[in-house]
Amino acid sequence: MTRILLVEDNEMNRDMLSRRLSRRGFDVLIAENGKAGVELATSEKPDLILMDMSLPVMDGWEATKRIKANPTTSAIPVIALTAHAMASDREMALQAGCDDYDSKPIDLPQLLRKIEQLLAAPTERPFRK
Ligand code: MN
Repeated sequence: MTRILLVEDNEMNRDMLSRRLSRRGFDVLIAENGKAGVELATSEKPDLILMDMSLPVMDGWEATKRIKANPTTSAIPVIALTAHAMASDREMALQAGCDDYDSKPIDLPQLLRKIEQLLAAPTERPFRK
């Protein structure tokens, strides 16, 4: 079963998205802040990470940089989730090492396409170093 780590501090967003992903057959792991996200990524090595950018303790940009700097987790695709559909947010997310980007509110069919794309073509990620 494909395991997705969802790093999201907003309880309502977290519950809704995790429930919808579970219904689509994904095994969803949860972290409520960036630091816990990095720790779970390292210990559980999920197949993909959905990373909210605005997080307590450690934000999503820093958490992604750490995940991408660690050889044991660097290959895990990270999709950034932010509240702002601004070009600068996309740039910042990609510079932090995120493989893709999506803005809230989540359009589930669109997010699922991005997830499937990253899971299917691990060698064709344009932003992978
Ligand atoms: Mn947040």
